[in-house]
Amino acid sequence: MGGGQNPKTRKDNVTMSPLQLLYDKDANPSLLNGKTVAVIGYGSQGHAQAQNMRESGVNVIIGQRPGGKNYDLAKSHGFEVGSAAEVSAKADIIQVLVPDHIQGKMYETDIKPHLTAGKALVFSHGFNIHFGFIKPPADVDVYMVAPKGPGHLVRDVFVEGGGVPCLIAVHQDASGKAREFALAHACAVGGGRAGIIETSFKEETETDLFGEQTILCGGTSALIHAAFDTLVEAGYAPEMAYFECQHELKLIVDLIYKGGISRMRDSISDTAEYGDYTRGARLVNDETRKELRKILSEIQSGEFAREWMKENETGRKNFLKMREDGAKHGSEVIGKQLRSMMSWLNDAK
Ligand code: NDP
Ligand code: MG
Repeated sequence: MGGGQNPKTRKDNVTMSPLQLLYDKDANPSLLNGKTVAVIGYGSQGHAQAQNMRESGVNVIIGQRPGGKNYDLAKSHGFEVGSAAEVSAKADIIQVLVPDHIQGKMYETDIKPHLTAGKALVFSHGFNIHFGFIKPPADVDVYMVAPKGPGHLVRDVFVEGGGVPCLIAVHQDASGKAREFALAHACAVGGGRAGIIETSFKEETETDLFGEQTILCGGTSALIHAAFDTLVEAGYAPEMAYFECQHELKLIVDLIYKGGISRMRDSISDTAEYGDYTRGARLVNDETRKELRKILSEIQSGEFAREWMKENETGRKNFLKMREDGAKHGSEVIGKQLRSMMSWLNDAK
């Protein structure tokens, strides 16, 4: 029963794919000499990638709408800052780091008119290219440099002398050197210190969406809330329910991160481990796997992407309502109060 799953759907004999990790030594950083990189959007990824590249010797300018706090932040960090259109005109390499749902419109109005032959268009997520919301002309390079970590980590780890692993992919190779540019670009961001994996826009986009919808965000949030509700509904104290179903999850995830699920099972009691094997697979059963495949097929067919873009075009009413509802959930309300007593948690406020 190991893991309690259906033996037909378990994947036991999985071997490493022929993927090759690339490092700084494999790149040619001089390709970026004399080039200007415009980073449009100085948010989570933008502020990190732009500063890392600058410290790697790349000439970086920033596109930000004036008036916002990120405009002032980029200025205070000593960057030349202009509108998306201005910096697109000046740059050889244009990296689009505004939110995905905004990229399509911004591309049409501010970037496309300045995307002349020989330039490069760069993304950190393949969404708009893969689903066809952005269709660049044939005479430019289109590649991806996607750090596999949140922006603040991309910056902090680099400052400490390390790097966050990075994906690169080429969608369009007009120069014949798009792959080498992507590699040099990823190394300038710090990826070459940790390892760079080559992928495709399709693979990056579909796996990224699948991960966030199922295990990383969607499934985990829903299970935390459902487990919390079950305890509270049965009359247990909400404080107990919060600590059990939400707070403790970090300790478990830290163990999994360090040594896999086996390491986590080593550390918990035999009682917990037995409950894990016998109960877990009742929750994530053949029905759940069917739903996982359905979620994946909605991603692959573009149905999810079209739904999300439509939601944005029609004023994000459902999205904002769900955000508001989510924040009202008992575990969020109780958790906020409990965390405010734990002064060591950064996010307590
Ligand atoms: P953020 O939301 O953090 O930053 C967005 C930036 O774009 C802000 O500086 C914001 O400036 C600006 N912006 C927002 N709306 C507009 C608008 N309407 N017009 C012009 N500028 C606007 O984005 P992320 O860094 O999270 O994401 C950027 C890209 O990186 C996406 O493709 C994402 O998928 C990808 N990515 C993100 C990761 C992450 O860690 N967040 C991880 C890997 C990839 P203002 O101050 O003016 O609002
Ligand atoms: Mg992701």
